[in-house]
Amino acid sequence: MKETGNISIHTENIFPIIKKFLYSDHEIFLRELVSNAVDASQKIKRLSSIGEFNGELGELKVKVSFDKDKKTITISDNGIGMTAEEIKKYINQIAFSGATEFVEKYKDQGDDKGIIGHFGLGFYSAFMVAKEVEIISKSYQEGSEAATWKCDGSTEYTIGSAKKKTRGTDIILHIAEDSEEFLEEFKLKSILEKYGKFLPIEIEFGDKVINNPNPIWTKSPSDLTDEDYLKFYEELYPFQEKPLFWIHLNVDYPFNLTGILYFPKVKNEMQLQREKISLYSRQVFITDEVKDIVPEFLMLLHGVIDSPDIPLNVSRSFLQADSNVKKINSYITKKVADKLAELFKSDRPAFEEKFANIGLFIKYGMISDEKFLEKAKDFCLVQDTNNKYFTLDEYSEEVQAAQTDKDGNKVYLYTTDVEQQDAFIQSAQNKGYSIIKLDTLIDSHFINTMESKLEKTQWKRVDADAVDKLIDTGITLEAILSDAQKESVKKVFEETMNDKQKVVAVEAMSPDELPAIVTQNEFMRRMSDMSKTGGGG
Ligand code: ADP
Ligand code: MG
Repeated sequence: MKETGNISIHTENIFPIIKKFLYSDHEIFLRELVSNAVDASQKIKRLSSIGEFNGELGELKVKVSFDKDKKTITISDNGIGMTAEEIKKYINQIAFSGATEFVEKYKDQGDDKGIIGHFGLGFYSAFMVAKEVEIISKSYQEGSEAATWKCDGSTEYTIGSAKKKTRGTDIILHIAEDSEEFLEEFKLKSILEKYGKFLPIEIEFGDKVINNPNPIWTKSPSDLTDEDYLKFYEELYPFQEKPLFWIHLNVDYPFNLTGILYFPKVKNEMQLQREKISLYSRQVFITDEVKDIVPEFLMLLHGVIDSPDIPLNVSRSFLQADSNVKKINSYITKKVADKLAELFKSDRPAFEEKFANIGLFIKYGMISDEKFLEKAKDFCLVQDTNNKYFTLDEYSEEVQAAQTDKDGNKVYLYTTDVEQQDAFIQSAQNKGYSIIKLDTLIDSHFINTMESKLEKTQWKRVDADAVDKLIDTGITLEAILSDAQKESVKKVFEETMNDKQKVVAVEAMSPDELPAIVTQNEFMRRMSDMSKTGGGG
C-alpha cells in the first residue's frame, strides 16, 4: 500500500516551541524586528530604483522608542508597508518569508544584496518578550488603506483598518511582566548598538542615530585609504593600539563573504586576545563567538566578517553543524594565505617591513594548520643576524655549502638572544656560518614543526655546543689541550657552576676560539623554552 499526504501543523503546539526554543537569547527580538524594518526600507528603495515606485522616497529611517508607563516598545519604519491582505499573507503564515519572496520576484532586476530576512520566523520572536503585539501599517501602493493587526500570542488574531496616514509600519510590543527589563533606555540602547551598529539604514533611538550605515567592509578596497582602515579599527576597538596590517576579504565565489581582518600589534603572549572578530550577516551582528567559523589561528586577529550565507536565525549548535560554515572556515584560511602570498610577491620590501609584526601569526598558522603551512612555506621569512630576510627555500640555498654535515643534513643555526649569545654568534660567524634570529614567543614550537616538515635539516641553537661541534663536517682538527688538561679545566667549571642541566665542554680547538663554554643540550633547552612560552599549537 502506498499513500501520500500533507503533514499538518497544529499551531497551538508549535507556538510555544517557536517562542521558547528558536532563540536562546530573548534580546534577539529587537534584532529581528529592526531587521524587518530595515528590509522594508531596502525594499522601497529597490522598488524606487527599478521604477516600480514613483512616489517620494523621503529620508528612510527606522525609529525605536519605548514608553515605560504604557509598557510598550515601538519599532517604526517608513518602508514598503503592508496592506491587510499582505499582513495575512506574511504574518499569519508562520515560516513563509516575505523577504525570500521579494528577492525571488525581483532577482533579475538590480542588486538583492540588501535584504536580510530569510526564514519567515523572525517576527514571532516578538512574543518572547511581549504579551501582545500590534501592527499598524500602510502600504506604499497608491490608494491603499492602512491596516491594523493584533495578537496576544495565541493562535487568534484580529485585523482591521487603521488611521495611519504615512507609508510604513509601526510594530508595537506590549511587554510582558517577566520582560520589563527591556523597558530601560540603557538596555535597549546597548542591544541596538550590539546588533545594529552597522545596519544599512539609519536607526534612530532617542533622536540619535546609533549606527554607521556604510561600514568600510561593504566598499571596494580600491576606494579605501589606509586612513579609512585605521579609522574603522578605532571605531571597532576604541583606545587600542593601531594595527600595522590588515586584509580586506572581498569575494563572491564560492560564497559571498566580505570582511576586514586586522593583525594587531602584540609584544607578548599576554596581549593575544581571542574572540575579537565579529560575525555579521548582511550587516546584522550575529555573534563574536567565531570559534567554528574562523580558523583557530586566525582568532588572534581582530575585525569583522560578513556573509549572507551564514544562517542568521539559528542557535549556536546549528551554526556548528552547518556545512556552509565549515566551508567558510577553510576558505578564510585559503584567502588569508593567498593575500599574504600576493603581498609578498608584489611588494617584498613592504612585506619584510611588516614581518616582525605578522610573522607571529604566520608561524602560529603554520604550526596549527596543515593547509596554511603548505602555502605559507613560500612566504614565511627568517632573518639572519645581519638583518637580512630569506624565505625558507632561499635560506636552504644560502647555507647549503658551508653548513651541510657529513650525513648530508643542513644545519640551521639560530639565536634566541643576540646579546646574551653574542660570543657564540661571533665564533660561528668567524667560521663563515649564518645564524638566524628566532626570538619570538612561539619560535620553539615553530622550530619543532619545521624540523618535522623540512627534510634533512636540523636546527641548533648557536650556543648549544662548541662551534666545531655544532656542524659535524667529519673533519677533525688538532686539539690544543690534551684530554687530561681538558678534564681538569672542566672540573673547575662544574664545581663552581653547580647546575646539573648545563653541560660544560672544554674545547679550544684553535687559539682564536673560546677555551671553554657552558651549554645546555638542545633537548633540555627546548623543553624549558617551551614550558616558558606555554602551548602554542
Ligand atoms: P523574514 O524576515 O525572514 O521574511 P519575518 O517573520 O521576520 O520573516 O517576517 C515575515 C514577513 O513579514 C517579512 O518577510 C515581511 O514580508 C513582513 N514584514 C515584517 N515586518 C515588516 C515591516 N516592518 N514592514 C513590512 N513588512 C514586514
Ligand atoms: Mg525578518
